[in-house]
Amino acid sequence: MSLQCPSCQSRRIASLHSALRVGATVGTVGGALRGACGALAGGQAGASVGLVAGPAGSILGAISGAVLGGLAGGVGGCALGAELGRCLDRHVLANNLCLDCGYRFNQRFTQG
Ligand SMILES: [Zn+2]
Repeated sequence: MSLQCPSCQSRRIASLHSALRVGATVGTVGGALRGACGALAGGQAGASVGLVAGPAGSILGAISGAVLGGLAGGVGGCALGAELGRCLDRHVLANNLCLDCGYRFNQRFTQG
């Protein structure tokens, strides 16, 4: 699909995708925070399970539970944030820039 400037009909268009990056960053941070909560819960669950195997097992269980919880939260949050950013890019923000006249426009305005 080739983009065309609605103002001067130039085909030299740069796509900015700014919201996608912002969304992914916000999602990663949010996911990491959520993962931290999951890590605490996972750590407690791991410690409880590890108690059966003694003090060393309790520590190992807490650490592995925290690491897994943090990873899962971070990855999930990043995917969610990227999807959110894609929606913003597509529907809200003008993310295409004409390199000839500097006109910024949204992708959907060029169709049809
Ligand atoms: Zn233009």
